[in-house]
Amino acid sequence: MKCPSCKAAVPEGAVECPSCGVIFAKFEERRRRERAEAERALAEMNLAPPPTVHPYLGRVIAGVVLTAWAAVMGYLVFEEMLLQRARKAAAAAAPAPIPVIMSAPIVSRIQPAPPVAVPVASTAAAKGGKAADGAGEEASPLPPRFRAAAH
Ligand SMILES: [Zn+2]
Repeated sequence: MKCPSCKAAVPEGAVECPSCGVIFAKFEERRRRERAEAERALAEMNLAPPPTVHPYLGRVIAGVVLTAWAAVMGYLVFEEMLLQRARKAAAAAAPAPIPVIMSAPIVSRIQPAPPVAVPVASTAAAKGGKAADGAGEEASPLPPRFRAAAH
């Protein structure tokens, strides 16, 4: 057989190499352990994601930014729609001629009625004196309790 370390010819069944002094059992065990460690390190390199940057971090950020932008734009469009609808409603609910039409009867209704014949009757009663008081009373449209004030 050959020494696995120094490749020197070794007699069969030898425990250690007479050339380099390596113990075959320990050498084989160390080589197996090193190979296992190398395989484990290789598997970790292939399987584990890079620890510094998350692979989906950029996509997550882009998604958040796009969602926020879409929300803001949607809100602005919705607000503009509401504003236009409110403007249309206000334009439809504010017809100009209605106040003009309404104002005429209101004004005529609140205008005081022309004064009744109270001054005429009172002056006639004053001219007629006490003798014409009875006729003045019949001509006066005021109720009796206001006639004294009218004199
Ligand atoms: Zn050897």
